[in-house]
Amino acid sequence: MIRNKSQAIRTALIFFFSITSVVIVTWFAPSLSAASLNMLFRLRGASNAPADIVIVAIDDHSLQRVGQWPWPRSVMASALDKLTQAQPRAVGLDVVYAEPSTPEDDRRLAAAIARNGRVILPAQLYETVPGAVATGATGLTTAWLRPLPEFANAAKAVGHAHVSPEVDGMVRGIQLSKADDRADRLWAFSLEVVRVAENIAADDVEEGAGLLRFGAYRIPVRDEATSSTIPGVTIVRQNEMMINFVGPAGSFRRYSIADLIEGRVAPSAFAGKIALIGAVAESMGDTRVAPFMHYSAGQSQGGQEMPGVEIHANIINTIRGRLSFRALPDWMAFVAALAVILLSALTIRWFDGWRQIALLGLILLSIIIGSFFAFSHYLIVPPLPAMLTGFAAVIPLLLNRSLTASRELDLKLAALVSSQKGFLSAAEVGQDGILSHDQSRLDLPRSLAWKLRAVDDLTTRLLARMGFINRILSSMDEGVLVADLEGRIVFANREAMRLFGCEQTELIGTSFADFLIKRGAIDQLKLREAVKDAADGRSSQLECSITRPEPRYYSLLLSALDANVDAAIDPELTAAGRRVGVVALISDITKRVELDRMKTETLQLVSHELRTPLTSIRGLTDVLIKFPVASDEAHEMLGTIRSEAARLGEMINRYLDLTRLESGAQPLRLTQMNCQQLIAGCVRSLSSFAAERRITLSSQVSPATLALRADAQLLTQAVNNLLGNAIKYSPPETEVVVAAELNHANVMISVRDQGFGIPEEARERIFEKFYRLERDTTSGVVGAGLGLPLVKEIVERHGGRIMFESEPTTGSTFTIHLPLQPQALSVAGR
Ligand code: ADP
Repeated sequence: MIRNKSQAIRTALIFFFSITSVVIVTWFAPSLSAASLNMLFRLRGASNAPADIVIVAIDDHSLQRVGQWPWPRSVMASALDKLTQAQPRAVGLDVVYAEPSTPEDDRRLAAAIARNGRVILPAQLYETVPGAVATGATGLTTAWLRPLPEFANAAKAVGHAHVSPEVDGMVRGIQLSKADDRADRLWAFSLEVVRVAENIAADDVEEGAGLLRFGAYRIPVRDEATSSTIPGVTIVRQNEMMINFVGPAGSFRRYSIADLIEGRVAPSAFAGKIALIGAVAESMGDTRVAPFMHYSAGQSQGGQEMPGVEIHANIINTIRGRLSFRALPDWMAFVAALAVILLSALTIRWFDGWRQIALLGLILLSIIIGSFFAFSHYLIVPPLPAMLTGFAAVIPLLLNRSLTASRELDLKLAALVSSQKGFLSAAEVGQDGILSHDQSRLDLPRSLAWKLRAVDDLTTRLLARMGFINRILSSMDEGVLVADLEGRIVFANREAMRLFGCEQTELIGTSFADFLIKRGAIDQLKLREAVKDAADGRSSQLECSITRPEPRYYSLLLSALDANVDAAIDPELTAAGRRVGVVALISDITKRVELDRMKTETLQLVSHELRTPLTSIRGLTDVLIKFPVASDEAHEMLGTIRSEAARLGEMINRYLDLTRLESGAQPLRLTQMNCQQLIAGCVRSLSSFAAERRITLSSQVSPATLALRADAQLLTQAVNNLLGNAIKYSPPETEVVVAAELNHANVMISVRDQGFGIPEEARERIFEKFYRLERDTTSGVVGAGLGLPLVKEIVERHGGRIMFESEPTTGSTFTIHLPLQPQALSVAGR
């Protein structure tokens, strides 16, 4: 609010300044208008002088031929006579004959003037001191210096030839009427020439405001008032007409007067034309500065002042050609300037960058081109200085805008700093003072160097912060996935990428729910519901498993991601409005799930498997204690108790072995071992059991398999289990063969029996814990259904696999495939 106010004040001040400068330039700096007129003349260039206005020049050539000026008047008389013969329309003799010379010469000239009948003579103003010298400088008055009455009477008209220059010494206008201090008024010499040439009656003149009607001509004039040096007196330049100069000096056709006198000019050169006789020789001093002075195209004309007679020629041409310029009234100049100011101000306000510059350039160009057209085509003197001043004066608005933008940048920087405060320590912020925002400062922007330093500093801090957050996210054990409100993944930390085994590029942009459904075993409905809940601001948790490369279990915690918009800053924004996405925290819960599974299994073991032998032991001991039992029977019963206890012990041991392995509590102790020795040991330890069941036990070991890197104890346990099973589940008088051979980089240990085999329907299940064939649970063969799961676990821990083939009639063959060098993965365990 305060900022807007100060900005409005600044804008108003700039407007005020612009308008004031326009007024100053228009009213108090006329030289600027003069300079702009010169520029316009230069732009327009010279045009062709009309052929019917010619100058009879008293030039240097004539002075050489006739002699020093002043000449005897008879010379001029003969020149006039020559002209008279050619019958020109009018003759302007721009020489003031105010004093008498020899009576004879005067008479001849008067006669020549009278003979011609269309001669116009000039009168000049001169300054006189009417009273005593004591009146001082202020006592000067002006009076007409007229031609001698005999000449004046002979002439057709007398006009004033007083051409007064403007403030810059340049002649741009002529007063079409002028009076001396005695209010004796004369029309301009040139106007009289035109009047005579066009036969306009002396009284056919009418003066109006800003307009002088003269015959059929309507000449725009202005009455200009300038204060004089005399206090309280204003000099009024009446009927001022602006001269439209044809070009630089020498533009009009000139004939040397000597040539005329000597008959070297054909009379046709003057017939029906306006002839002006006047001095052009430099030495005669009758020259003035005219607008084309410095800008003429011809090199020779450069810097040459214009002879008075040619100025008269230009005036005559301006009147006859109706070429006089019209100056716009001041109010129009102000309106034009105001339009420029408004247009430029709006351009600055509404546009930026190159558009702004281009439009401002366009405005400037239109001012200049428009002014030029007004000048050259419509003969209007444009208010060029006023418009240019308006344009230039509004430029501070640009500065004002950049100041405002700069200040705004300061505020933004300060806001950024304050948003960092929660993160950066107070000491850090205050240290260099750059980022501490001082509210008490004036409403002026800080320096560019400060801004650069602040941005630099903030960037460093933000980068450090980003790096810090990145490090946190990438060193987390949990996977983090962030999805936007459309459900597309927008961020994944390193762990998440590792979990799903894919790169960031694969993850970003894919649908969060679809991705999880594709990669992990998850309830679609539950997931979609959870995502929706999270987007609504309710956190929810669900579990999923990912089966690659081995089954692992994960918990998925979904919660809403809010934009960090401070409620205090924008209370309008509701919680839902601030929501920008959903964050999923994925933690590995495999261990917990495994533990749960183990607990369930233990419960199962205790409740089913252990209970059976225990019940039987308890029942038998109860009978033995409570009842008198015959010694044979008692012995048999004790035998059963013993075997049940042994079964119980074995079951517990096996289960513990398996659990230890599965939980990773028992690491592999890999050693370089001899396979042949291992098998020999197994055969040895089971030979009595085999003999007991009348089974032949033999081994076939290839010597190439001698070296194997494995956990000797566990591998022995595995082979023993397989051998034990083969013996257990074979009828007497059969053979069990254990063989070992090398197959590529694998060692294959196989145990082949000629037993009962494994039926088709049980093949899938025999590696499950506690699973036993129906046939064997009832047959009384001791077993717990934990042998094959243990073998499988041991083999897989070594990076190998177990396979079997079985026919109900011919027996089964279990084969262990072991890599010669177990993979690091299996060594490390889970
Ligand atoms: P157990 O302690 O019962 O032997 P195992 O896990 O070692 O447990 O074996 C599971 C079941 O697979 C056995 O109960 C048996 O029914 C069947 N089995 C295992 N080995 C053989 C074999 N060589 N021939 C026939 N059946 C077998």
